[in-house]
Amino acid sequence: MSRDYELLVIGAGSGGVRASRMAAAKGVKVAVVENRYLGGTCVNVGCVPKKLFVYASEYSEKFKEAKGFGVEGQLNNFDWPTLRDNKTAEIGRLNGIYNNLLDNSGVEILNGTASLKDANTVIVSGESGDKEYTADKIVIATGGWPFKPEIPGAEHAITSNEAFYLEAFPERVVVVGGGYIAVEFAGIFNGLGSDTTLMYRGEQVLRGFDEGVRQFAAEQIAAKGIDIRTNSDIASIEKQVDGTLVCQLKSGEAIEADAVMYATGRRPMTDGLNLEQVGIKVRDNGTIIADDFFQTSVPSVYALGDVIGTPALTPVALAQGMKLVANFYDGDTTPMDYSNIPTAVFCQPNIATVGLTEEEAVKEFGDDLSVFESSFKPMKHTISGMPERSMMKLLVQTSTDKVIGAHMVGPDAGEIVQGLAVAIKAGATKAVFDSTIGIHPTAAEEFVTMRTPRG
Ligand code: FAD
Ligand code: NDP
Repeated sequence: MSRDYELLVIGAGSGGVRASRMAAAKGVKVAVVENRYLGGTCVNVGCVPKKLFVYASEYSEKFKEAKGFGVEGQLNNFDWPTLRDNKTAEIGRLNGIYNNLLDNSGVEILNGTASLKDANTVIVSGESGDKEYTADKIVIATGGWPFKPEIPGAEHAITSNEAFYLEAFPERVVVVGGGYIAVEFAGIFNGLGSDTTLMYRGEQVLRGFDEGVRQFAAEQIAAKGIDIRTNSDIASIEKQVDGTLVCQLKSGEAIEADAVMYATGRRPMTDGLNLEQVGIKVRDNGTIIADDFFQTSVPSVYALGDVIGTPALTPVALAQGMKLVANFYDGDTTPMDYSNIPTAVFCQPNIATVGLTEEEAVKEFGDDLSVFESSFKPMKHTISGMPERSMMKLLVQTSTDKVIGAHMVGPDAGEIVQGLAVAIKAGATKAVFDSTIGIHPTAAEEFVTMRTPRG
């Protein structure tokens, strides 16, 4: 039976665009359904606008650093509408590029909201009503959506989605959460001049990262002027007539703010997809259950990206899209490799990591572990007078000499750890690191000069 498409992808985000483009390039008849924005979360309300805001937020400190070098500059004004609107224009440009990329590779774009009718049929509800399309294979790549806990007054709080489009820049902000988004946005607001509180319910922010990194990063973040409140949570939010938000904390204390941003995680976006009726199984947290080859419990329906609960990172979704196409059309029978995924948190200073944390390494290797660690004042700050410090950590399995984890807190950590990730993926030993000549004077050279393991 001939169907409308060989491959129909739901969601034109990181994973969906990559899968549909790669498949179309192989001559496969492909369509992608999108109901909001081409490029998905990363391009529109994620990595890209976030990084633009991070750049903006780092100028204020650069003015302060310059003084010690005899360069007098004054930060007179920060014009939020300029930043917001220039960012929005850039996103518009990228949306156009995505449209052309899809078009030029022969992917048909179906504008509208998709829902599954059966194992091979998708209903697309758009401006001109509902249309049905059949496909040999369907891929769900619908990403995620911010989650806000249901507390009284939650409607007064924003999420990262709204933070990109605020009408007015808040003088006082409370960011709730201790994950990537909360930590990054606290840095953005603080750098741009907001009086910033980072409120986290647990003992220490950035759960899941190396303990030493968490501790060190939290100290650096606090030294930038962010008020980190751990073991702290909001019970309710009240809006006063002048627009001030009063956060009643569970401790009984109250904090006033002009904006409260929840960065309390993201949920899979499966609204209206009709998963249950079609027989697609999901976990308790709503993520779609897919096997190593992205196949769901309905054999003709596949899923990838944030919606399946694998690490919620754009390069992971991109790699999955490419793997899926290789599995479908290139005879590749290997599953996706999730080992040694490098990642960065774009706070000030950056955090970046690849491989095991020290806690994971101890669990896996016990005493068969050497830890090389260094903490220092970056050369720039010897004269800038800023208190910022950097840290680096290498974890080595002693018996094999293999480097099994690298961690950094410091300027450009993301740029530096990307290179280390290649070495670790290639199985580099500590001896290889040691025999590598450093680039002097850089902070990164510390990774090839640490010689004495921590006692
Ligand atoms: P998405 O990119 O979310 O795409 C899903 C698409 O499906 C969307 O366009 C959506 O509109 C569409 N859709 C949903 N339902 C339907 C439907 N029923 N019908 C039609 N279309 C539908 N990752 C990094 O690696 N680095 C970063 O620095 C980074 N920063 C981030 C900052 C923020 C604030 C956020 C929120 C995320 C960030 N991420 C970052 C994570 C990254 O954005 C996601 O991991 C990535 O976008 C996931 O890609 P995806 O293809 O799974 O889904
Ligand atoms: P995360 O899952 O990373 O963090 C959520 C945070 O919110 C945790 O600290 C969690 O606490 C806390 N939390 C959860 N529920 C509640 C609640 N009910 N009340 C109070 N606090 C709560 O999610 P994010 O939203 O920060 O980001 C989503 C994902 O997007 C990230 O995991 C990451 O994969 C991706 N991302 C990547 C970026 C990058 O690569 N630079 C940047 C931004 C996002 P607890 O720790 O106690 O569970």
